[in-house]
Amino acid sequence: LPDSPCRTRFAPSPTGYLHLGSLRTALFNYLLDRATGGQFILRIEDTDQTRLVPDAEEKLYEDLKWAGLSWDEGPDIQGPYGPYRQSERLPLHAEHANKLVREGKAYRCFCSPEALEEHKRQVHELGQPTLYPGTCRNIPLEESDRRAAAGERYAVRFKSSETPVMIHDIIYNRFRKKDPEDDYVILKRDGFPTYHFANVVDDRHMKITHVIRGAEWLISTPKHVELYSAFGWEPPKFAHLGLLVDQNRQKLSKRDNSANMAWYKESRILPVALLNFAAQLGWRGKGPQGNVMDLQEMVANFNLQFTKGDIIVSLQKLPHLQ
Ligand code: GLU
Repeated sequence: LPDSPCRTRFAPSPTGYLHLGSLRTALFNYLLDRATGGQFILRIEDTDQTRLVPDAEEKLYEDLKWAGLSWDEGPDIQGPYGPYRQSERLPLHAEHANKLVREGKAYRCFCSPEALEEHKRQVHELGQPTLYPGTCRNIPLEESDRRAAAGERYAVRFKSSETPVMIHDIIYNRFRKKDPEDDYVILKRDGFPTYHFANVVDDRHMKITHVIRGAEWLISTPKHVELYSAFGWEPPKFAHLGLLVDQNRQKLSKRDNSANMAWYKESRILPVALLNFAAQLGWRGKGPQGNVMDLQEMVANFNLQFTKGDIIVSLQKLPHLQ
């Protein structure tokens, strides 16, 4: 374990409810912070306004409280730091996107969604990868400023480099990006940042030391590391957790009823039983091996070693306690 206090975060998107996989992610972030005397931050990642589920945010708070995972900063805590909801931090994201534009590391893209759609259709027919064609990459800054000032709508794209980025992960070790990178959008036409961009800017501003999240984000991490270096920032440490899958090797997802908190509550499973069940998935610390540990004991036995790769979950093994 690191010997200085870790600041960790759980950063759910309110596009669905808490499920076994996300509970496990939240738990491990919580345990790392408690084991090192740090802080655990809750950040609602609501930048994709088209996918919001109306009561998801409320339910997330409710379910985390039910599980006993209390956060130190974030919505509902009226301290100097809270609340954290990405949609309330748009000026910070815009300011940072603008900084990259001024430094020539990103550019405004004035292409209309229709033009981009048409381009996609054409290259798709030719069987080519649908990368951005670079139409606006070389628009001089003065012209770009003039068009933006005249009210023309734009997105901001990051100038991706061709050089593969190597990342270090506590669980997966080294990982290198292979594909040719696209000039991806960091700020959308609606003024909202994309997930990647907001995630990096916020992790930096919230002084996050360790990012513990599902392995589905491993392939995005080179993108994030590229953004960190564009700003000249040191990236946090990353630990990607193996994904939970069912017997058919399908990912347990938010849509999976049996993995939703509501189902566990209805089945009258005690939070401590569920936390133990979640903790044992991929856990390589001491305990719990058959014994039920309370949160305190989990903190005492926690380390940052986990098994790699998919983890098959057999929900039948979940103890039905009352
Ligand atoms: N908002 C992302 C999610 O819902 C968070 C990924 C991350 O922790 O960086 O999974």
